[in-house]
Amino acid sequence: MAGKPMVAICWLGSCGGCDEAVVDLNEAILDVANAVDIIFWPVAMDFKYHHLEAKRDGEIALSIINGHVRNSEQEEVAKLLRKKSQLVLAFGACACFGGTPGMANFRTKQDVFNWVYREAPTVVNPKRNYPQPKSKVNGKELSLPEFYEKVYALNQIIDVDYYLPGCPPPPDLTANAIYAVVEGRLPPKGTTLAPDKALCDTCNRNATKPSRISLSDIKRIHEVEASPDTCFLAQGILCLGPAVRSGCGEACMNINIPCRGCFGPVQGVEDAGAKFISALAAMLEAENDKDIRQLIEKIGDVPGYLYRFSAPVSALSQKQV
Ligand code: SF4
Ligand code: SF4
Repeated sequence: MAGKPMVAICWLGSCGGCDEAVVDLNEAILDVANAVDIIFWPVAMDFKYHHLEAKRDGEIALSIINGHVRNSEQEEVAKLLRKKSQLVLAFGACACFGGTPGMANFRTKQDVFNWVYREAPTVVNPKRNYPQPKSKVNGKELSLPEFYEKVYALNQIIDVDYYLPGCPPPPDLTANAIYAVVEGRLPPKGTTLAPDKALCDTCNRNATKPSRISLSDIKRIHEVEASPDTCFLAQGILCLGPAVRSGCGEACMNINIPCRGCFGPVQGVEDAGAKFISALAAMLEAENDKDIRQLIEKIGDVPGYLYRFSAPVSALSQKQV
């Protein structure tokens, strides 16, 4: 298919949801397939790494990469795609910010291994073995990718040109991103290909959001029967809408679940969790430190709540050695 721009789609540390999101283009995927030459998409077709290696440097117009980086294979593939591609799009919250797997950065690698290979109730491992990068079986040497100390977002490993967040990204923004490349309508490098508004600005509950929110109690969504029409914060339920970017399609809101922040910070904000905690501090109705502590304890897992999708790129993570 000479003449068509080559596109690679690849998953690194991924649940597969971002690849599903590409399939969710439905019939529009036929138009995409007509407009580009998909030369690598391991989740959908039988491609091997040597197919990538055979490409000239820069021969691929666009690599759409989803998933985080936590092992040596993922790093190697990310670097190979970068070398072969003119443009790299970090696709989905895991590639953009580390995603939900990034919450593992609140634990050590040893903690993760202990739980997964020894302590989890379903594990049967009488020899208490851990996987090793190199081992010998029947005289043959076997190798596994090396598991890293922590989870990395894609731009912590390779240079990234554009970002499309979401868990997963919605079909309309996915199609727009691909066509922007095909048609040469490219915004400046580093742009997030999603609206520059906060979610609150587009939320259909916005009319019920008080101008001054005052929280004397914090409820978790499973503890109450939330109104489907009223702003969550007005109901005392935490919603990250004031701090995170719009464009997700509000799938969570539509099933009466508050925003968890998969679209990352609004334009101009580096750390959505820090932005939200400062907004929250102004909302709390508390007389003294003890009252504040009691309210914060009602959130349960505070870092997990604020950094569900973005721990590896958070200011908190930069402080960790
Ligand atoms: S961003 Fe969400 S859907 Fe995409 S790979 Fe990560 S967890 Fe899965
Ligand atoms: S806080 Fe949440 S529910 Fe309220 S307007 Fe913002 S996004 Fe909507």
